[in-house]
Amino acid sequence: MPESFPPAADPPAPPDPADFDMMRRALQLARAAGDMGEVPIGAVVYRALTPDHAQIVGEGANRREIDNDPLAHAEILAIRAAAQAQGDWRLSDLRIAVTLEPCPMCAGAIVNSRLSRLVFAAFDPKAGACGSLMRLTEDPRLNHRVTPLSGILAEESSQLLRDFFRSLRQEKNPRSKDD
Ligand SMILES: [Zn+2]
Repeated sequence: MPESFPPAADPPAPPDPADFDMMRRALQLARAAGDMGEVPIGAVVYRALTPDHAQIVGEGANRREIDNDPLAHAEILAIRAAAQAQGDWRLSDLRIAVTLEPCPMCAGAIVNSRLSRLVFAAFDPKAGACGSLMRLTEDPRLNHRVTPLSGILAEESSQLLRDFFRSLRQEKNPRSKDD
């Protein structure tokens, strides 16, 4: 391997029980968004007090349709809420849990807010910027990096998304039940 090859990112620490708890909360937020006709994606910004306990600082769920806002992704809303609550845009002692792999915009927001840990559930092969299409949060050229922890409660998140899109198709075309 040539010497100039970029070094592998440090392996992330394994997820804590608190990360799973926060992902469960993010899934609740995602489900509520789905009930309102939004693609079900939720995010929680939190402070890990111990490996078992976390304090929620900001929450968000996708509101793109309701707000007619292409920026109203769950992560952006959770990060903004957390920064407001902290009175500081630097979130370097906080973590984020999100039910779907962040897109380039949200991955950029995670870098810019200096979050210390990114935990996500399902991969997004079409738009994900944290392993699928690119690895934005791990780019060594950026001045802040986060190695994502992926696959946390991924099946629950994938199921939620599948159910949402299935019911959407059935609404549009009530006669085809199984496609
Ligand atoms: Zn996004």
